[in-house]
Amino acid sequence: MLSFDNRLVRELPGDDDTRNHPRQVLGALWSPVMPTPVAAPRLLAYSIEMARELGLDDDELKSPPWVAALAGNALLPGMTAYATCYGGHQFGNWARQLGDGRAIYLGETVNGAGQRFELQLKGAGPTPYSRSADGRAVLRSSIREFLCSEAMHHLGVPTTRALSLVSTGEAVRRDMFYDGHAADEPGAVVCRIAPSFMRFGHFELPAARGDQTLLRQLVDFCIARDFPELDSVPDDERLLRWFVEICERTARLMVHWMRVGFVHGVMNTDNMSILGLTIDYGPYGWVDDFDPGWTPNTTDGAGRRYCFARQPVIARWNLERLADALSLIAAEPVALTTGLARYDECYNAQFRQAFAAKFGFAAWRDDDAALVEEILALLHAAQVDMSLFFRSLALIDIDVPDLTLLHHAFYQPALFDQHAAAFSAWLARWTGRVRSDNEPAEARAARMNAANPRYVLRNYLAQQAIDRAEQGDATMINELLETMRHPYSEQPGRDAFAARRPEWARDKAGCSMLSCSS
Ligand code: AMP
Ligand code: MG
Repeated sequence: MLSFDNRLVRELPGDDDTRNHPRQVLGALWSPVMPTPVAAPRLLAYSIEMARELGLDDDELKSPPWVAALAGNALLPGMTAYATCYGGHQFGNWARQLGDGRAIYLGETVNGAGQRFELQLKGAGPTPYSRSADGRAVLRSSIREFLCSEAMHHLGVPTTRALSLVSTGEAVRRDMFYDGHAADEPGAVVCRIAPSFMRFGHFELPAARGDQTLLRQLVDFCIARDFPELDSVPDDERLLRWFVEICERTARLMVHWMRVGFVHGVMNTDNMSILGLTIDYGPYGWVDDFDPGWTPNTTDGAGRRYCFARQPVIARWNLERLADALSLIAAEPVALTTGLARYDECYNAQFRQAFAAKFGFAAWRDDDAALVEEILALLHAAQVDMSLFFRSLALIDIDVPDLTLLHHAFYQPALFDQHAAAFSAWLARWTGRVRSDNEPAEARAARMNAANPRYVLRNYLAQQAIDRAEQGDATMINELLETMRHPYSEQPGRDAFAARRPEWARDKAGCSMLSCSS
């Protein structure tokens, strides 16, 4: 049994209208809404770590009342169901009210250690914020969200979590590439968990509507509940200190994404977490062959607004939109720019630390930037796999550097031959650089291997698990989940999950091309 303490609905104004129909919701931050039951729920996978953190044992989680709750078919004692109201900037434009169109909260639980978690079902049916959409999610995108949330957690990247993946036994109709080829797909519901699912867009919407009272209420609530460490800050400094904290957390998150090769794909302000968590796993992807301009999201294929290398710049742009919103209630709006300056400082400092570790340097030196930029350009030109390159670099003996150890990271043998001389020259400089640290090789390799994952949830791996699950076999979901629990360790027998993307997956839907349709 979990205990619930539903502060959000208790402390923030809710919607008077209790009917479930699409509408603009004014003067309120949430609407009561029940999940819509599904025909035949089946628990396909769950995260044991997340269950334990909540204080829930496996047997309880697998019991019929819990599976029913995780599918949206029933509420357990203490749960309360609602959806929240937010807006957002999508692809650079203000999109007005969006809201939880297919996410329904089940309330807030507090575990034995006093940690608070919001529970949310994604895909549990329409809400007042669904507009014309169905409130459902397809199995493929639910598998991707479930697996990637947990993979990111184990990689040490701040993220919302996933407790469970339940198939619904119902079909969901989707036009995957928006090209007039709609088809029925199996549906699913993921139960996601986070201390708070608050997004930048939650603050932007009341600000855009000029509702200072509501914005102030929301800010005070968010600080009191989600940032208790700011309690002792004097009233007139608290808003700014909070914004600075959000900027720092966002900067740290961006460095993590750049470190592990993660591309979110849809960095709209409604997909940015106030806690600096990775949130809303949609058409995300992992960099295989290194390419700063790569995006997995076909919807963004032309503009590449959200490609790999632009993520830190976009995060800052999004923080600027949050600052715009907060300026409505800030005593000194210009002071918010100090938060943005902290974003830049924090990003640069964290980037240096993370990339020093990736390259095995004891600490970052100013002239390391040239060495790093040079190899990143080479990785791009020679189409080298990012994850395999960094793991292989840790294997190089600096007294006898052997270029062939990198060979398996190349997608095209001809490009290895073509760029071999440039790589050798770079390796000579790199070995000189790390030698100057005067460190035992083991210490350097350990530091590199703790910053460079051996296993990431490559797009084609998730797609293979999806293909099998759609045929009724969920075993690969659990195999991947198990592998991604220890992403920095060598796992004998699981080398296949660390392998380069196979050729068949290069341009295949789901593997390198995804859309927002989910
Ligand atoms: P996204 O681009 O997935 O972050 O979603 C943007 C907005 O569309 C959010 O308000 C979502 O809740 C809503 N949305 C996306 N898919 C659906 C769906 N199938 N049904 C209802 N609302 C949706
Ligand atoms: Mg979203």
